[in-house]
Amino acid sequence: MFPLVFGKVNTKFKGGIIMGQNLTQKILSSHLVSGSLDSGNEIALRIDQTLTQDATGTMAYLQFEAMNLSRVQTECSVSYIDHNTLQTGFENADDHAFLQSAAARFGAYFSRPGNGICHQVHLERFAKPGKTLLGSDSHTPTAGGMGMLAMGAGGLDVAVAMGGGAFYLPNPKVLRVWLTGQLPEWVSAKDIILEILRTLTVKGGVGKIIEYAGPGVKTLTVPERSTITNMGAELGASSSIFPSDEQTLRFLEAQGRAEDYVPLCADEDAAYDEELAIDLSTLVPLVAQPHSPDNVAPVSEHSTTQVHQVAIGSCTNSSYQDLMRVRQILKGKHVHPGVSLVISPGSRQVLSMLSSNGALTDLLDSGARLLESTCGPCIGMGQSPVSKGVSVRTFNRNFLGRSGTQDASVFLASPEVAAACALTGFLTDPRTLGLSSNVGFPERFRIDDSMILPPGSPDTPIKRGPNIQPLPIAPALDDSLDLPIILKLGNNITTDDIMPAGSKILPLRSNIPAISEFTFHKIDPQFAAKAKAQTQSVIIAGHNYGQGSSREHAALAPMYLGLRVVLAKSFARIHRANLINFGILPLTFVDENDLDRLNVGTTLHLSGLHQAIQTSEPFAIALDNDSAPVLVRHDLTERQAKILLAGGLLNSTRASI
Ligand code: SF4
Repeated sequence: MFPLVFGKVNTKFKGGIIMGQNLTQKILSSHLVSGSLDSGNEIALRIDQTLTQDATGTMAYLQFEAMNLSRVQTECSVSYIDHNTLQTGFENADDHAFLQSAAARFGAYFSRPGNGICHQVHLERFAKPGKTLLGSDSHTPTAGGMGMLAMGAGGLDVAVAMGGGAFYLPNPKVLRVWLTGQLPEWVSAKDIILEILRTLTVKGGVGKIIEYAGPGVKTLTVPERSTITNMGAELGASSSIFPSDEQTLRFLEAQGRAEDYVPLCADEDAAYDEELAIDLSTLVPLVAQPHSPDNVAPVSEHSTTQVHQVAIGSCTNSSYQDLMRVRQILKGKHVHPGVSLVISPGSRQVLSMLSSNGALTDLLDSGARLLESTCGPCIGMGQSPVSKGVSVRTFNRNFLGRSGTQDASVFLASPEVAAACALTGFLTDPRTLGLSSNVGFPERFRIDDSMILPPGSPDTPIKRGPNIQPLPIAPALDDSLDLPIILKLGNNITTDDIMPAGSKILPLRSNIPAISEFTFHKIDPQFAAKAKAQTQSVIIAGHNYGQGSSREHAALAPMYLGLRVVLAKSFARIHRANLINFGILPLTFVDENDLDRLNVGTTLHLSGLHQAIQTSEPFAIALDNDSAPVLVRHDLTERQAKILLAGGLLNSTRASI
């Protein structure tokens, strides 16, 4: 099972001749506001579309308002409700009412609860080839399946983009994935991205945009392409993108949006920074084993693993095609008595098409339990597996505890593998069922936009229930700081570790004082109390701090609790940007071994900070225990240094308006 070839390819110049542009460069250069694609420096992009979801949207709209902006300036901005639709108290209802009224007033579309998962609905109804999309959700690159440059960011970056501001990012490298051949029967798009994760790991895409090309591309439909670009987020990539071609036109025509089509592809002589090749015909059904999306193996290696729950849905795998393939496997059969099967269709469009063609009846007759068209179990909103249980999910993440059951084992798989497991009660390769696969692509999707409310009047009053609390604002960065270390952490700390989600915590997303009590709760239940007792503090960590999601509460809540600095071996891209946006200084060790000699209780003395962050040199931090100082670097751009000096992006944007 080694279908991949990996290597460095040519640079931009070959034989002194300037080469053509790849697809990424074409979209970047047509949206470039400042910076140069030829340098390794930060670039700024014009953003055509934005999306927010309810878990991040309340903050984004409060921030938009706090910057004294009055109306969105993008071609289209959409506010979705998909993460938390349980209304077990007034909190979610307050948030939904706030978001609906804020979207109307500020000029955004509003996708009502029940209309579907933001990425699925955006792909169906809004995504356009060649455009840029910034979303306050890390799986925004799902729209890359449409030939769109779609990126995840914190809500504050999205609020600035809604106001017409540029989005800043480090000039990305471009990795070409060259696809040849055709997928064998019962091997799916999910297996392509799992194979790439197996090869490149969760760090393999950091600082890169992944561009798909080659003759194998035309064999994949837009929803299949979007499954792949969706999980580019798990590679740490800034984005992933497919060309816009006849498959794109076919999808847009079936969505009644043929006028949005433009053909787009790389020039034949385009240069790339890196390349990977996959022969699709050599792939087999795969699973990501607990507890990381890159811990990948053939499902056939697990045929004796018993399964207790199967969950089909999420922004990765809940398209019409996905669920029709599930129906094909389940039709006329019954779910194994030891398995609970739950299905969340990705959108109301998908659900209503399954309903009108009878597939829904087949699914229900098999014993499937139907959930709303929302994120549901993917964000820990119900359906936690049984203790020590095995759950097979078509989702994109299987971090320990994300399912809501700390000792459960979550395997990530394609809808085809998941449906096969539901029938047999064991991890099952769908090819062993002896079925033939014949799901076609619909000529016309069912189009009904009545659950998408258009922008309203600028005079719309904003509804603010008691769950909508004022935004905390970060203080300006002091020139000197004495900061006790209050937490020491290892590698790959996720935003889930920093600020968990789930049905108890998500309703507090617009109430920072309340939600901050859950900061690092899984690691140290006393963290919030300790941080408040110290007033100001620092935490230290290993590599890839803040991996996982764009959740800006993972920066905002620690800031509220007095965290001023995070000193780590390395950071995940979106979280590092969020720390800066909320006035927390991200520093890295010059000598990574220094982490070993720092411990909770040691106080770091930082001085001359204002000058230190405006020069590129490493600087020393003194310790209170008389041992040698720790040398650190900040890697901030001039713009980021200014944001930190002002006390975060909100302060600096307000000052510049
Ligand atoms: Fe929703 Fe899960 Fe997708 Fe996040 S990853 S947008 S929680 S379905």
